[in-house]
Amino acid sequence: MKKKYVFITGGVVSSLGKGITSASLALLLKSRGYRVFMQKLDPYLNIDPGTMSPFQHGEVFVTDDGAETDLDLGHYERFAGVTCTKASNFTSGRIYSAVLARERAGGYLGRTVQVVPHITDEIKNAIRSAGEHDCDIVLCEIGGVSGDIESLPFLEAARQFRFEAGSENTCFVHLTLVPYLKAAGELKTKPSQHSVGQLRNIGIIPDILVCRTEMDIPEEHLEKLALFCNVKRECVIEEKDVTESVYAVPRELRKQGLDEQVLKQLHLDIWPIKHTVWDTLVRKATRPKRHCKVALVGKYMAIRDAYKSIYEALQHAGMAHDCKVEVSPIEAEDLKIANLREADAILVPGGFGSRGVEGKIAAIRYAREKKIPFLGICLGMQCTVIEFARDVLGWKDANSTEFDQGTAHPVIDLMDEQKGVSAKGGTMRLGSYPCSLKKGSLASKLYRSASIAERHRHRYEFAAGGPFRDALEKAGLEVTGLSPDGKLVEVVELKNHPYFIAAQFHPEFKSRPTAPHPLFAGLVGAALKGKTK
Ligand code: GLN
Repeated sequence: MKKKYVFITGGVVSSLGKGITSASLALLLKSRGYRVFMQKLDPYLNIDPGTMSPFQHGEVFVTDDGAETDLDLGHYERFAGVTCTKASNFTSGRIYSAVLARERAGGYLGRTVQVVPHITDEIKNAIRSAGEHDCDIVLCEIGGVSGDIESLPFLEAARQFRFEAGSENTCFVHLTLVPYLKAAGELKTKPSQHSVGQLRNIGIIPDILVCRTEMDIPEEHLEKLALFCNVKRECVIEEKDVTESVYAVPRELRKQGLDEQVLKQLHLDIWPIKHTVWDTLVRKATRPKRHCKVALVGKYMAIRDAYKSIYEALQHAGMAHDCKVEVSPIEAEDLKIANLREADAILVPGGFGSRGVEGKIAAIRYAREKKIPFLGICLGMQCTVIEFARDVLGWKDANSTEFDQGTAHPVIDLMDEQKGVSAKGGTMRLGSYPCSLKKGSLASKLYRSASIAERHRHRYEFAAGGPFRDALEKAGLEVTGLSPDGKLVEVVELKNHPYFIAAQFHPEFKSRPTAPHPLFAGLVGAALKGKTK
């Protein structure tokens, strides 16, 4: 079968949920028996989002193969269960840097290097590299909004791609907004007409229009959109806000026939859908019988997207226990212990830099002493070690050399492989690494396995071979997860505590609504148990 490509563009405004719409479409196509691969093209000039602040960009999602990527890839993996790779996210910066490196190497000798055709050729190569994966259909989401100057080369490349691959092998889906004007009491179609007009100017005629809306769009408006945007009526799809759970979006899009229209456009058979698991999931997400409160103590609490996968993983864990997990975001910098009193569990996530570290350490001490279920992730694990060293062993100056170079007790230190690395982009310990779990440990019980693989993103570590490990272990901080060579500590935990575990890796990236992550499910389970006591 020839590879098929679906391009998803956006119009009118950003933040319409293009990532969730693309991921939902991927799930629907998959449930119809097709193998899908997903890709996101981002117009900004950073090579990847790895060096951007969460304030700017939200969470950096890490793939198995060690790419630092856009958080939409998290939706792709969670909804469609696809494993994203380095080919799943290209930025303009990455495209330009490849072209410029080739120019310096003499790859274009004698020629003028230009946006068209050289940048657009490189973009088409990137799209084709997605098609080299084991799949029938590639879904390619183009970041930004039609009319943006910076996304033009991507749109031009997509236009050329269709010209070369044939319209029966490509499908353009345009996500647009149909706003409701309260004062006029009306839904407006004009912004959508304009945004499709902008795409037409550059030679793209969308096959399908997905209309984000707060309320039902009357039939006459849908017909108007079809006529003025040059899209068949059955290809104008309404995507109304869902209030219950984002995991209800695929079901709503299926009701509207989005997947059928895409398959028709691609000249593919419309096989019957197998979808039962997801329907049950939505029910579980919407009407949970139980409730618990998890305090999330971090640094970017005003920005939910900064901890996207953590929020999602907590929701999945809730689904596993028929429990609504209410997250209380707490700024570590302004932590007041009183704010933790209501928490049934405490989670300290990953992070960089010293702001808020002392608050995180105080929250961990509270969880340890008051026997509140606790999960520490990456920096959260490092803070766990620091807290224990300070309070249990009395090494008052214990710290990570990330925050205090002069401490006599550097319980967390730069990894050997990081010494001498000064470049910041893509240089951390990134991606999936194996880890061996100690027999009988909480970790091995939760995972029901002695060997696991999880994703990493860090420079510092609790050195297994370092001088402090023995003393910390003797005092009760148990090392239960190690890299197979025994050199890196991946998991620590406490006995005599209902649930106290911290990991150097990021379990949140691998949690799925259909397969909640054991460390998160364990946390929520322990929180519920603590409540009934
Ligand atoms: N800043 C710490 C390190 O680089 C932790 C990183 C993280 O939490 N992702 O090791």
